[in-house]
Amino acid sequence: MQHKLLVLVSTPAYSRLNGPLVYLSDQTLPPGTLVRVPLGARETLGLVWPGDIPASAAEEATKLRPVLEALDHIGPLTAHWMELMGFAAAYYQRSVGEFALGSLPPQLRDLSNLQLERKLNKRAKRASNTEAPAPANLQVPAPTPEQALVLQRLSAEQGPFVLHGNTGSGKTEVYLRRAAEVLAQDAQAQVLMLVPEINLTPQLEDRVRQRFTHLGDDAIVSMHSGMTPAQRLNSWLSAHTGQARLVLGTRLAVLSSIPHLKLIVVDEEHDPSYKQQEGARYSARDLAVYRGQLQHAQVILGSATPSLESWHHSRAAIAGEAAPRYIRLSMPSRVGSASLPQLRRVDMGQQPRKTLVSAPLLAAMRERITRREQVLVLLNRRGYAPVLHCHACGWKSECPHCSAYRVFHKSDRSLRCHHCSLTQSVPRACPACGNQDIGALGHGTERIEEHLAELLQDMQRPDGLPLRIARIDADSTRGKGELVRQLAEVHDGDVDLLVGTQMVAKGHDFRRVTLVAALNPDGALFSADFRAPERLFALLLQAAGRAGRDAALTRDQACEMWVQTFHPTHPLFESLKQHDFAGFAEQQLTERQQAGLPPFSFQALLRAEARTQEAAHGFLNAAKLSGEDWLQAQSMAVTVYPAVPMSLQRVADVERSQMLVESHSRRALQMFLSHWQQDLQDLRSQHKAVIRWAIDVDPLVI
Ligand code: ADP
Ligand code: ZN
Ligand code: ZN
Repeated sequence: MQHKLLVLVSTPAYSRLNGPLVYLSDQTLPPGTLVRVPLGARETLGLVWPGDIPASAAEEATKLRPVLEALDHIGPLTAHWMELMGFAAAYYQRSVGEFALGSLPPQLRDLSNLQLERKLNKRAKRASNTEAPAPANLQVPAPTPEQALVLQRLSAEQGPFVLHGNTGSGKTEVYLRRAAEVLAQDAQAQVLMLVPEINLTPQLEDRVRQRFTHLGDDAIVSMHSGMTPAQRLNSWLSAHTGQARLVLGTRLAVLSSIPHLKLIVVDEEHDPSYKQQEGARYSARDLAVYRGQLQHAQVILGSATPSLESWHHSRAAIAGEAAPRYIRLSMPSRVGSASLPQLRRVDMGQQPRKTLVSAPLLAAMRERITRREQVLVLLNRRGYAPVLHCHACGWKSECPHCSAYRVFHKSDRSLRCHHCSLTQSVPRACPACGNQDIGALGHGTERIEEHLAELLQDMQRPDGLPLRIARIDADSTRGKGELVRQLAEVHDGDVDLLVGTQMVAKGHDFRRVTLVAALNPDGALFSADFRAPERLFALLLQAAGRAGRDAALTRDQACEMWVQTFHPTHPLFESLKQHDFAGFAEQQLTERQQAGLPPFSFQALLRAEARTQEAAHGFLNAAKLSGEDWLQAQSMAVTVYPAVPMSLQRVADVERSQMLVESHSRRALQMFLSHWQQDLQDLRSQHKAVIRWAIDVDPLVI
C-alpha cells in the first residue's frame, strides 16, 4: 500500500511552490523525517511535513512520485522545531521550505544515506565515554550580592528576562551559573548561548569548556558560519541527538534542532548582527524569545545597553498591557573594585581648526603610555582616506559602478570600493586633467595610525624601542587567524596604542587598556537614521567597558573614555557621563513615541533592484497602488510610503530603491504583508526589468 506524504523541499523564496508537495511512500513516515525525493530532474533533500493531504492530490495520484529514501538513521525533527520554522517563515515573509531546509547543515544534502550511517555509528562509539564527576579543584567564584539576587529570580521565575548589567558586572558568570543549574536539574536539558560574532565564540567556548569539563568534550559544541561543512554537520547532529548539552553559536544557531532546550542566553542582545541582512532576514533575538515560549525554555537577553525594543518591553507601564512582557534584572556594579570609566569631553569648537587629535587628549595618551598602560583609539572608517581629490579640476575617486567613493588604502596604494570591491592602483596623476597633485580627503584608521605615530615619535618604551602602534580593522585582519593573533599581541601588552574600528569595541577583554578615545563620533548625533544615537550610545559604552577591567588597577589609574565632539553638551554625552543607560533610553523612547517610530510602530521595507531607478520605482509604485486598494477595502490602518532610492542608491551597477510600510498594529502589518506577497509575485512577472525584490520585516537600517 502506498501512503501519501507531505514533503517540504527547498523552494526559492518567492516561488509559487511555497508549500509542501505530495509524494508517495511504502511506509508511513512521521512528520519531521528527512527524506530524499525527486524534484524535476534532480534529487533533493526533503522533510516530511505535518498537515492534511490536499484533496487535489487524490486526482493527481498517478502523477505523484515516490520518496527515494528516508534518512531514518537520523531521528525526526520535533514538532516544536517545525512550528518554529513555520512561524519564522510566515513572520519574515519567506517560504517555509527555504527556512526549514536552509537552516539544516548543507552536508545533509550531499551525503548518501550510507555515509550518514557510518558517521552516526562512529559518533555513537565515541559517545560511550560518559560524564566524569565535576573536578574538585574547579575554581568557581562565589556570586556577588547582585549576581546572587539575579540568580534567585532566574530560578524562581520563567521570564523572558532582560539582564541589564554593566560591562564587567559579571553577566557571563550569571549565564554559566544558570546554565549549570539547568543542566543539573535535568539530565537531558540543553542550553543555547548566542553571541553576536564568530570572533567571540572561541573566548566563550574556552570559558564554558573550563567550567563544564565534567560533561565531557562532546557535550559542548559551537555553531557558526565560519565552520567547515563537516564541522557544522557534526555540531548539528550533536545538538539534534541531545548529546550536546551546551550549544554556543551565532545567530544561525537559533534555528538549529535542539530538542531538550531549557535555557537560551542571548549575549549582547542589542547587537545588530543578530539580524540576518540578506536572504531570509530574521532576527535571531526575536526568534529566541519565540522559541523560548514554544519549548518552555527560559530566555535571558543580556546587555549593558539593551536594544530599545527589549528595554521598552521591560518597562513597568506600557499602555494597554497589564505587566511588562519581559522581566528586567539589573546589575549596575562592576565586579571587585574596578570602577566604571570617567567620561571626558573635548569641545572641538575650542580647538584649532582641522585638529584630529586634540592637545589635551594627546597629553592624556602620553601619560598613560608612560605608565605602561594601553590606549585604544576608535574611528569608524577604515582605509587611509575616504576620498582622493584633485585640487585642480575637482575630480574625486568615485566608483564607476556604485554611488560611493572609492577609499584610498595607502598600505598597498590601492583605491578600493567597499561596496563592490572594485580595486585599482592609485593613479599617479589626476585621471581627468593630468594634474600630479591629487590629495587625500578625510581620515580613516590607516591615516590616524600614521598621524599618531608622528605625534608620538619622540616617545620610547622602557627598553628604548619605539612605541608599538597597531591597527585592527577589517583590512588588517583579512587573513585567517589574524584577528586572534593581533588581539593576543594587545593582551600581552606588546602594543602601546591600538587604533581600531567598532570591531574592537565588542566583547574583547583588554585588561591593560585604561584610556579609550572616540575621535569623531558626531555623525551619529544628527543622522537621518533614527537608530543612530542608540547605536552610538551602545558603541561608546561598550568601548568604555573595554577599559579598566582589571580589578588590580589603583585609583589614580582610573580609566577614562574620551570623546572629541563639537556638541559636548548633547544629552547623549550627558547620559554617557552618568553611565545612565536608563535615562538615555527613556529620552530616546519618548522621542520615538512622539514621532510614532518603533517600538511604538511596526515597520517593513519592500526593496527592489533593477538596472534603472525608473524600473525599480515602477515595480514599487505598482505594488503601492495594489496594496493600498486592498487596505482601503479592508479599512486597515497600514501606511505605505512612497518609494525612494536607497541611501546607497547604486551598487555594482544595480539601482536600489525601497518603500517603507508602517502600522501601529503588528497584526495588521502581518496580515497586509501576507496578502501583499501574492500581488508582488504577480507584479514581478509584469515588471521584467526588476532583478530582485525582498521584504525586510522589522528592518534595522532604513
Ligand atoms: P560581563 O559578562 O558582564 O562583562 P564577566 O562575567 O565577564 O562580566 O565578569 C567580569 C570579570 O569579573 C571576569 O574576569 C570574571 O571572571 C570576574 N567575575 C565575575 N563574577 C565574579 C565573582 N562573583 N567573583 C569574582 N570574580 C568574578
Ligand atoms: Zn584633475
Ligand atoms: Zn563600487
